[in-house]
Amino acid sequence: MKPKKTEMPDKFKKKLNDEQKNIICDHGTESPFTGKWLYNKDKGVYVCAACGNPLFSSDAKYDSGTGWPSFFKVMNKKSVKLKEDNSMFMKRIEIICNKCGGHLGHVFPDGPMPSGERYCINSLALDFKKKK
Ligand SMILES: [Zn+2]
Repeated sequence: MKPKKTEMPDKFKKKLNDEQKNIICDHGTESPFTGKWLYNKDKGVYVCAACGNPLFSSDAKYDSGTGWPSFFKVMNKKSVKLKEDNSMFMKRIEIICNKCGGHLGHVFPDGPMPSGERYCINSLALDFKKKK
C-alpha cells in the first residue's frame, strides 16, 4: 500500500525543493547518515521546513545512532500530530506537522527515559533557528 500524499497548501509547498517535497509531501525517508542536522549540536529550535512551526528544542536532541536526527520529546503538544501508519508492512506512528500537515518522520517506543520515545525526523523536513 502506498502512503497517501500530503495535502499541503501551495504557499508552504513553494518553499520546498524537490528533495524536501519527496519527504514532506510524498512521505519519503532520507538515507541514513546523510541529513544535515544529524550532528548539529548548536542550541536552538528545530522548525518545520515548510511552514516554520517550532517542533523540537535542541535540548531534546540526542544521538540515537540510527542515522537520523532524534529527539526524546516534542516542543509542545500542539507542535505535531501523530497518526498510525501501516505502510511498508510495518505498524509505525507517523509524525505530522500540526500546522501544514507535512510528513516529518516516525516515533518509536525505544527512546531514552523518562519519555521512552524516539522521534526520528528527516533532516530535510527541518530547519534550524540558532539561539543567539
Ligand atoms: Zn509544517
